[in-house]
Formats: sequence, structure tokens, C-alpha cells
Amino acid sequence: VHERRLAENGGAGLATTLSSDSGWDNSIDYYIKKQLRVWCRHQNGQWELGKIQSAVRGKASVTLLDGTAMAVSTGELLPANSEILDGVDNLVELGYLNEPSVLCNLQYRYHRDVIYTMAGPVLLAINPFKDALIFGSNVIMAYREKILDSPHVYTLADTAYSDMMRDGLNRSIIISGESGAGKSVTAKLAIEYLVEVGGDNSEIASRIRESGFILEAFGNAKTSRNKNSSRFGKLIDINYDAKGILRGACIHTLLLEKSRISQLSRSERSYHVFYQMCAGAPSDMRDKLNLRMASEYKFLNQSGCLKVHDVDDAHNFEKLMEAMDALRIPHEDQERVFKLLAAILWLGNISFEVTDHENHVTVVIDEASRSAARLLGCKMNDLTVALTTHKNETLMLQQAIDTRDSLAKFVYTSLFSWLVETINRSLEGDKKLTGRFISILDTYGFESLQKNSFEQLLINYADERLYQHFIRHLFKLEQEEYELEGIDWKKVEFVDNQCCLDLFEKKHVGLLSTLDEVSNDSEATNLTFVNKLKQRLSSTLQLIDEKGAFRVHHYAGEVQYESTGFLEKNTDTLQSDTTLFLSSCCKNFLIDELTSLDLGKQTVGTKFKGQLFKLIQRLENSKPHFIQCIRPNAKQLPGMYEKDTVLQQLRCNGVLEAVKMSKSRYPTRMTHQEFANKFGCLLADNTRCQDSLSTSIAILQQYRVLPEMYQLGFTKIYFRADQVSALEKLRQQVM
Ligand code: ADP
Repeated sequence: VHERRLAENGGAGLATTLSSDSGWDNSIDYYIKKQLRVWCRHQNGQWELGKIQSAVRGKASVTLLDGTAMAVSTGELLPANSEILDGVDNLVELGYLNEPSVLCNLQYRYHRDVIYTMAGPVLLAINPFKDALIFGSNVIMAYREKILDSPHVYTLADTAYSDMMRDGLNRSIIISGESGAGKSVTAKLAIEYLVEVGGDNSEIASRIRESGFILEAFGNAKTSRNKNSSRFGKLIDINYDAKGILRGACIHTLLLEKSRISQLSRSERSYHVFYQMCAGAPSDMRDKLNLRMASEYKFLNQSGCLKVHDVDDAHNFEKLMEAMDALRIPHEDQERVFKLLAAILWLGNISFEVTDHENHVTVVIDEASRSAARLLGCKMNDLTVALTTHKNETLMLQQAIDTRDSLAKFVYTSLFSWLVETINRSLEGDKKLTGRFISILDTYGFESLQKNSFEQLLINYADERLYQHFIRHLFKLEQEEYELEGIDWKKVEFVDNQCCLDLFEKKHVGLLSTLDEVSNDSEATNLTFVNKLKQRLSSTLQLIDEKGAFRVHHYAGEVQYESTGFLEKNTDTLQSDTTLFLSSCCKNFLIDELTSLDLGKQTVGTKFKGQLFKLIQRLENSKPHFIQCIRPNAKQLPGMYEKDTVLQQLRCNGVLEAVKMSKSRYPTRMTHQEFANKFGCLLADNTRCQDSLSTSIAILQQYRVLPEMYQLGFTKIYFRADQVSALEKLRQQVM
């Protein structure tokens, strides 16, 4: 979609799309006469401010602000906003909403450490990659008491809270953006605010804060794009009573990336908790777990990255233990958790010996296998059988390795689910959670890596679903209503990703159904899957080669997926064997609870889709607030604002269309009846009318509400922002 848009725009990007609506108010001659600022495009594509000196037959001579003279075609010029509008709080205030004006407004603010800007109803947050001193309790108080009211995640959270208190309806805060754009930090700040305004339930407040740290330890990892990347999606419901007092919270998660347990890309790490434990466990725990340093475990040392700059794993281990205590997780359970973590690490060090010329294997009995068996609580022989046989047949080397890795991954993901349940029990407080919620959604964000596999497919599918939620609430629902009401309305164009969602979700023929169908066929291979895709989806999905690479046009960009391993990852065939082994052989652990969490025979794709739908359903039952995080550079550096990087994100995320939408929106609306009932008192008795429509029109005329400020629909009246408040004041005087 992104590529397509670029092509449609002839490379000029938003400039051309947006300038058609907010283009030159006056002729170029006017700009010459008044010496108004214009944007002038360099050959290198960058826009600079200047003033036009003369223009003849499509050619203009321009003086840039630094005094340089340039000759350009008038097609390379765009109107600039006046200096008064430099760095406005809300992009809606910009007279011209063209590409350079928007980019420069954000840059102007960013370089003054103002990372938040409103884009109509959407809050933009540009990652500062440094501590900006705009957070914490004092700042929260200042926003709470309205001493500060500039765009901020706190302002948005405060609006969500106040609105919820006013009308009693649940709210959601939906945070989107690419990986590394700042979603998790933003979510944390929103939660911090929402916990603090919830008053004096300090026990629950501190548990909510500590639970964030535990989830990060177990669900976040260093990736190439973010040293603290969440590898799972999460929705946190913060629960209040009728007085707005914090009562508890509940966390819903979406698929944790499990490949990371056994396979790491260069310079990435596994989940933080492993390194924290290896660096920080006290000596008695080390003895019990036979724990070594991270460098001695294959699952951790394979990527050449054991440490993260500025991160103290040992110290974080202490914090993790404190957090677990704060959540009242019993010490025996904590011990079991760490035993299983150590078991996973030792599993990774287990090696196999080939016993015959057919490559059949047996487990090497050494420190690794002995430690793994002991920590899992099973007999050595049981572990050997589980890792090297399937239905009484001895496995070959690669199969045994896959079984070992699968066992490690299964234990970890089950442990994670157990942890989330345990945290939820602790956050539930005394009473079952009912009442009002504000839900904060923080998901993985669009990913396009050099090599994209099944995990990226699911992550990007979730991202598509959320984008659809965004456009549905910001564009579709509203425009549909205007159409139904017969409002004279210039449609705002936006990229609708419904066809990409259909590609994934269509019953029987969509990507996920096709994958399930092929996964159920024991004879099928990767190529069967790809051939089916070719038959069914060739119009919307591009196949690249016979090895099974295919490309999908996501709203945020095109991604090429390598389908190798899709079938295995989708079915997780090894899972039923490992579950059986764990539940029958491994004693004295959380294992019983872990294996009971296994959700049966669904494929991974179907399970994911189900979880995603549940999340979206929760969101549909709440009024949304949107935050869009933006990554200003790829290097994760402070103070570096790369226009192209920002632009690429703005082009895809629909935010500028949202600004256009809010410029032409009619945010206040009421039925003719409601309006007539409420403001009828403003009419003198002799001017009252019989029906509500005539009464409404009489009020509007008598109080000279300008025609461009309202529209009459079939059943409702629609007003531009701030129009009704003037009438409201008058009404209060009359009453
Ligand atoms: P995402 O969740 O979108 O992948 P994160 O929220 O983890 O991204 O942010 C990536 C990194 O950027 C963080 O580890 C932090 O260093 C930095 N960062 C993000 N937001 C902020 C902020 N508001 N203030 C300071 N640093 C931030």
C-alpha cells in the first residue's frame, strides 16, 4: 500500500495528496507581492523555506532563508504557514497541511524536547531516546490539576479518566507504532497516570507497577531495533469503582514469541530473565540450580550478545525478586519458576550422539542432561525417551534437536501463561473485578525484518486488525453516519486495509484457513501450502519463488515472508508429546498447572486469531483514544530527527487523514428533538413551533449560528466544535 501510494503521488508524497485540499489560498503572485514564505523542493527531495522573487511560465526564482537563490518549477513549490503557526500544539491548527509543514512542525517541537503533538484526536509521541524531564508524580499532579494542559500522554489519560467518570462508559487507550517507536514506555506512562489518579489504593497501585517489571523480565528482549522490545501483545484493564477509586487490574496477553527461546539472530538476546538470573542469583540459588554464567548456555551465547549497554542484569534480578514478593507470589512458586528457567537453559546444552548409520540418536549423559532432568523433576531415562523417540521409533538427529527445543519453548510459554494468571490473581484485589475500566493496549507493532517468518506474519496480521479498528473509529463509522443523515460532506480518503484482512481471514480460502487446512494433512509440505496459496490468493498475494517466499502488501509496507517452517510452527506437532511427557513424568512442579493451561488442539494461527478477536471485542466495548508513536531515527539516538523516517511512518499510519477528518468534522451532534427540548427555552413564546425541526431552525436563525457551523441531518443536527457552548451559556442565563 505504501509503495502504491508513493507511486500514485509520483514520489512527491503527502505534498500532492494534501495540497489539493489545503493548497494555495491565493495565486503565486500574491505570495510574491506579500513576500510570504513558501516551501521549495530541492533536487535531493528535501523541502526548504524561501520566498518567491518572480515566476514566469511555470518557472520561479526563489530566495531561500539562508540567502541562496534557486530556480525551480512552480510545481516544486508549496505554500508555507506563517511564522505564528510554527510549532503549534495541534496539527489541526495548521492552515496548510502539506508534507513539509507537518514534518517541520513536529521537528520544531522535537528539537525543543516537546515530544507530544495532537493530530486532531490522535496523540503523536515522537521517541526522545533520552530522559525528558516531563514525567513523574509532580508532573502528574500538574496535569491532574490542569496547571499543565499541553499535549501529553498524561493529558490523554486524564481525558479518558474524566470522560469515564462523566458518562460511566469504559475507555481504551490504543497505542500503535513500529517496533522501537516507544509504545511500551508510553503504555507504562499512561498506566502510571491512571494508577495515580485512582487515589489511595496504594497496595494495588504498587502491585500494578511491579507486575510491569515482571512481565518485562519474562516477555521482553533485546532485538536489533529495540533493546527492550516486548515480544508479546498486551491489554491491561485498569479497574475503578463508581467513585473512580482504583480497584484492581487485569492483563490479557497475545502470543509470546517462542522461537526466541532456542534461536537468536545475531546481536539479539533471549528474554531478559535468563540473563538476570545468571548474573544476579545468590549463591545458594546457584547451587540449587547448578547455575552458570549466561556465556555457558547455548540458548544464550549463540548470538554473540550477552550484555545490553547501560543495563545491569544482576541489579534487575534483585528488582525482579522484590517485584515477585510485592505480588505475594509464594517463595516455593518462585523457586519452581527459577528451577524451570534453569532447566530450559540446561536443555539447550543437551547434545545427542548418533548411534547408527541411519542417523538415529541417543542423549549424551552429561552435566547438561542430568541437570535438566533433575530440575524438571523427572528420571534421566524418561527424559531420554521423550527427546529421542516418537511413537516408539527412535528419532534422527534433527528431529531430536527439534524435540528438545520444542520442549524448552513449551515450558517457557506455559510458564509465561502461568505467570500472567498468577499476576492477575494478585491484581484482582479483594473483590472480583466489575465496574469501570480503562484498557491500555500495547502490541508488538509492524515488523519487516530481513527474514520474516510465521511470527512476523502473525504480528503484522495483528497490526492490520488494529489499524482497521483505528480507521473504523476515526473514519468509517463517522462517514457512514454522515451519509445516512444526508449531510453535505466531502469524503476524506484513507487507506482501507479490509482487503488485506480478507487475505488473512477469509473463511476456507484465506491465508490462515489455507495454512490450517494444509497443516491437517500429514502428507503436506511447505510447497503444498504455497501451491494452495497460488491457486487461491494470487490476485492479492505475490509469490516470489518456488521455495515458498511470498509477499503481502500490508498497510504499513510490503513484507516478504519465507514460508519454510510455517506448517510446523502452526501445528506445533511436538507439543502433544511434550505435554504428555511433562504431565506424566515430571513431578513436584508447576508442571500440572502448566500443562493444564495448554488449550487443546487448535493450531497456533487459529488460537492467535481467537485471542486477537477477544481483544478487539473488548476494545469495541469501550470508547477509544489513540496514541501513535513515531521512531525519529533508526539508530535509537537522541536529538536525531530524520525527516524521511518520520515521513514514512506518517504516510502509513493514517494520522494526517485523521487531522483532515477532524478539520471537517462535526463533533457535536444531537437529535432535532433533543436540541429543541434543550434550547427551546431560548425562543420567545410566540416564536415556538410545533415540530422539533422547525423549533431547531428557529433557534439557529434567531441566534445567528452561521450556516457553515452546522448541518441539518435527517434526524440529527451536527455542529462544528465549540458552537453549542455559546448557546449553552445563554441557556444557563435564561434558566
Ligand atoms: P516499542 O514498545 O514501540 O517497541 P519501547 O517503548 O520499548 O518501544 O521504546 C524503545 C526505547 O525507546 C525504550 O527502551 C527507551 O529507551 C526509549 N523511549 C521510548 N519512549 C521514551 C520516552 N517517552 N522517554 C524516554 N525514552 C523513551
